[in-house]
Amino acid sequence: MKEIILIKDGEIALKGLNRALFEDRLIKNLRNRIGDLGKFRILKAQSTVAILPQDEVDFDEVSERVSRVFGISRYSRALLTEKHFDRIAEAAPDYLRETLTKAKTFKVTAKRSDKTFPMQSPQICAALGEVLLEAFPHLRVDVNDPEVTVQLEIRDYGACLHAGQLVGAGGMPVGTSGKASLLLSGGIDSPVAGYMMAKRGMQLDAVHFESPPYTGERAKQKVMELARILGRYAGDIDLHVVPFTHTQEEIKNRCPEELFTIIMRRFMMRVAQKLAQKNESDALITGESLAQVASQTVKAIACTEAVCEMPVFRPLIGMDKSEIIAVSEKIGTFETSILPYEDCCTVFTPKHPRTKPQLFAVENAERALDIDALVEEAVSGTQTERMRPEF
Ligand code: ATP
Ligand code: MG
Repeated sequence: MKEIILIKDGEIALKGLNRALFEDRLIKNLRNRIGDLGKFRILKAQSTVAILPQDEVDFDEVSERVSRVFGISRYSRALLTEKHFDRIAEAAPDYLRETLTKAKTFKVTAKRSDKTFPMQSPQICAALGEVLLEAFPHLRVDVNDPEVTVQLEIRDYGACLHAGQLVGAGGMPVGTSGKASLLLSGGIDSPVAGYMMAKRGMQLDAVHFESPPYTGERAKQKVMELARILGRYAGDIDLHVVPFTHTQEEIKNRCPEELFTIIMRRFMMRVAQKLAQKNESDALITGESLAQVASQTVKAIACTEAVCEMPVFRPLIGMDKSEIIAVSEKIGTFETSILPYEDCCTVFTPKHPRTKPQLFAVENAERALDIDALVEEAVSGTQTERMRPEF
C-alpha cells in the first residue's frame, strides 16, 4: 500500500499574485521538514501539491510533520494505486475500512484529470459506490449530506483515493515574510511569540542572553531545546548566545537599582538589533505581554522601544497568561519552559523595579555606562549554532 499527501490549491494560504513564489517556498519547506524520513517526489501538478514517497517511509510521521508546516490549511492523506478500476476496487475497502465502519452514510465523487482513463466520472462513482456497499453492507448512500465523502482522483501519476481532509497548521510558508530575530529566554512566552510570527511566514533567528556563572549550562541547554521544538514549526533556527554577564554587572554597579531591569532590557534590544543587522533580520520579536510584569507596562515598553530602529513585534501583547500557556502546551514547549533553571533576568532583579520609568531618567542613568563598548563586547562574544528541528 502506498500513501501520498495531497494539498489542493484552495488549501494553500495565499491566492493571487505571489502564488508561485509561495508554492515554491512551501515545497522547499516540506522537503526540508521530511527529507530525513526517506526519498520523496514533491510536485506541483493539476493545481495540487503532491508528496509522493519513493520508498518505504513511516507515513504517520510524514503526516504529523506536514501538519506542522505553515502555509497549509488542509491536506489529505490518500491511497495511490495504478490507474486501473480493478486495482482501485481491490484496494479501496481495506484503505477506507476504519472510516467507513464508523459511518452510516457516504457518497463517492470522482475527478478525472487524466482524460485517457476509460471510464467517465459518473460511471466511476457508481462502480466504486457499489464496491463499497458490498464491502460495508451497513452503509447507505446519501448524496446530499453524507457523513463521509470518498474521493477518487485520476491524475497523471496514478489514482488517488481519500476520504476527507486533515487540518493543517495554517499561516504562511516560513520565509515568505522575511526574517526576524526572536529574543528567546527560557520562559513560557518567547517560544510562543516565535511560533506566532513564524506562522505569519517569518523565518526565525533566535538571540539568547546568558550570564555565566550566574546562569548555568543547563539553562542554555534548555533554550537550545526550546529552539529545536520551535523548529518543528519554524524550521532551522540559528541560535545566537550572547555573553551578558559584564553588561549586567556594570548596570548593577553603576545605575540605580530600580532602573536595572529597564536598562538591561534596553541593552538586550541594542545587542539583538546589532545581531539582526548582521544576520539580515528585518525585525525583532519578544514575548512581552502588556502589564504582565513591571518591565511590560506601557511606559516601560516605551523606554525599551526608544533604542530600537527596526520594527519590534510583540505578538502576545494582548494575550492573558492562560491563553499563552494554552498555545505553549499545544506546540509542545510548555514542559521544557517550566524547567526550573536560572534566567539572566532573574539574577539581579531589583526588589522594587520602577513600573513607570521616565525616558529621560533612564537615559540619564545610562550615562554612567560606556554603552557602545558594552554592546560591542556582547556582540563580538556571541556564539552561533544552527538548531535543527527535533521531532
Ligand atoms: P518569557 O516567558 O519569554 O521569558 P517573561 O514573561 O519572563 O517572558 P521578561 O522576563 O520580562 O518576561 O522578558 C520579556 C521578553 O524579553 C521575553 O519574552 C523575551 O523575548 C525577552 N527576554 C527575556 N530574557 C531573555 C534572555 N535571557 N534572552 C533572550 N531574550 C530574553
Ligand atoms: Mg522570562
